[in-house]
Amino acid sequence: PLEMTKWFDTNYHYLVPEIGPDTALRYTGTTDDGKCHCERELPRCGGHSRPVAEFREALDAGVLTRPVLVGPVTFLALAKPAPGSPEGFSPLERFDELVEVYTCVLRDLADAGATWVQLDEPALVSDTLAVPADVVTAAYRRLVAASQRPALFVAAPYADLGDHLVTLAATGVEAIGMDLVRGSTPIDDSGLPVRFPWPAPGLDKVTLVAGVIDGHNVWRADLDTKLAVLHRAQTLGAAAVTVCTSTNLFHVPHDVADEPALDARLASWLAFADQKVVEVVTLATGLTAGRDAISAQVKAASEALFDRAAAPGVVNPHVRQRAGELDEASFARGPFAARRAAQDARLHLPPLPTTTIGSFPQTQQIRDARAAFGRGELTAEQYDEEMRAEIRRVVQLQETLGLDVLVHGEPERNDMVQYFAENLDGFAVTTNGWVQSYGSRCTRPSILWGDVTRPAPITVGWSSYTASLTDKPVKGMLTGPVTILAWSFVRDDQPLGATAFQVALALRDEICDLEAAGIPVVQVDEPALRELLPLKTADQASYLDWAVRSFRLATSGVRADTQIHTHLCYSEFGEVIDAIDGLDADVTSIEAARSKMEIVADIAAHGYPRGIGPGVWDIHSPRVPSSAEMTTLLSGAATQIAPDLLWVNPDCGLKTRRYEEVTPSLEHLVEATKAVRATL
Ligand code: GLN
Ligand code: ZN
Repeated sequence: PLEMTKWFDTNYHYLVPEIGPDTALRYTGTTDDGKCHCERELPRCGGHSRPVAEFREALDAGVLTRPVLVGPVTFLALAKPAPGSPEGFSPLERFDELVEVYTCVLRDLADAGATWVQLDEPALVSDTLAVPADVVTAAYRRLVAASQRPALFVAAPYADLGDHLVTLAATGVEAIGMDLVRGSTPIDDSGLPVRFPWPAPGLDKVTLVAGVIDGHNVWRADLDTKLAVLHRAQTLGAAAVTVCTSTNLFHVPHDVADEPALDARLASWLAFADQKVVEVVTLATGLTAGRDAISAQVKAASEALFDRAAAPGVVNPHVRQRAGELDEASFARGPFAARRAAQDARLHLPPLPTTTIGSFPQTQQIRDARAAFGRGELTAEQYDEEMRAEIRRVVQLQETLGLDVLVHGEPERNDMVQYFAENLDGFAVTTNGWVQSYGSRCTRPSILWGDVTRPAPITVGWSSYTASLTDKPVKGMLTGPVTILAWSFVRDDQPLGATAFQVALALRDEICDLEAAGIPVVQVDEPALRELLPLKTADQASYLDWAVRSFRLATSGVRADTQIHTHLCYSEFGEVIDAIDGLDADVTSIEAARSKMEIVADIAAHGYPRGIGPGVWDIHSPRVPSSAEMTTLLSGAATQIAPDLLWVNPDCGLKTRRYEEVTPSLEHLVEATKAVRATL
């Protein structure tokens, strides 16, 4: 399968295209020889192209839409060289041919009646991707020159567009979208907004689409401030300024009105997609008709903001005081060598210890029990007993399989973040707030609105029960502070790092309680560590600093003989290995099989000094890997990583898999481990 990874700094995933020097780039409306599938003369047919078909479907229903396509530069910048590509080949080298294909799509859309097309080019805001200006210039000059096309709106969400605003303006595209929530309008050396005339040739013919409403979070906007930003954007010298959300709206749920269970006061501070559209329209009215025309809405918005700032729970003096008293010792454990010795003496693990990432399949039975509990058809006692029965089955299975460090299987968790949000103060959960994560999978992010506290232990009962069933070491399972933040909608009234520390303190108490209950291993999952990495190089160091420190704050309250694990997945981790090292976890399991063990070489090159478990089973596919296959991956890893640091585990948690896949795959994993152990 293609690798799946995160779309910029969001929790939306995409499959990474693999493009080589010879990969055929063509429009799905055409066949190999350039003919149309429906035998019409081509390249002029849109009958089989999805964007055109969808555009027509909407038009037939009476709605003129603006089709949105991923832009050609971003498509190539996110692609990786196909296997076998020559050293140094970059898919961006193919932009000429890809642009040719895009001109066909644009022509078909124009034929079908589209007046505007949006090309999303978030690659332009990323320092990591560092798209060269001449590629942008060449690609867009050609698209602009296409003989028959709709007007082009190039959108660059998620961070500051920077100098590419100037690059794009000079190409002659009709509209440019800027993220003015994450980014800003350009300012001059004295810190004032730049003014016309400003050296941006062509900008006077461009419509600036000002993304002032946050498309990535759920808080109601301060319309007064937003109006001021729009007025500043008007001074840049564009032909026109229009109002927009900062990103597409698929990162937020639909409608606050669909949340009857939400506290009414909290609901009044929120704007989901439908409310954001209203905010956009309101601001547009304010821009054209003047502030007086929207004064009632401006007043209501600022009242909501005042109400939010003063509401009980938003600031909790005890939490503030505890955060204020942290010192360096709050973030540090003793040296790893001493920890390792203490843990070896306590755990007696074989070489290449085997474990899983935490969850076992969420069976229909578990889901039915949770639903029945939700409907009040099961008592809390009955529900808990259902979960305990599942834990007994999962422990039994792991013992039969011969795994070394056991888990309870996480049956009680609907979701690895929401479960904690439901058990911590300062969070609210939604009923219908689904957002797409990948394919048909959606998540329902919680809303972190206030200072975070832990009213009572959360996981200790489940872990203790599990430990009572087995003589093997049991691993307690928690979700880390960065991931809890990344997969929630987080308050925007204080720095993220401050919020992360509050979550970390709550987790620290939980981990200490697990330790006190005799749990010898605790895993703190941080799959989103890489996800929140800022797109601008200048912002990365401070992010990594608070991200790493929040993990350490959560995990450093324990004794040397308590083994701390972490788990990372869904991203390219090569570029943040220093941060992974900085987490100072005793053992790190990391998704590797799906990306063909690329990470192992990165780790080997970096010289990672603590336990590491590169996944040997790609659990995102239903395929059951053979033990021979896993033996190859594992023995390969053992040549690059010191075998006494190597752990054996799947890529990820197993909650989305079925037992038909899980049982044989884990059997094979244990067989492969035995085979490689025999060679050590
Ligand atoms: N402990 C979590 C689970 O197993 C980790 C999920 C993940 O891999 N992202 O479900
Ligand atoms: Zn994972």
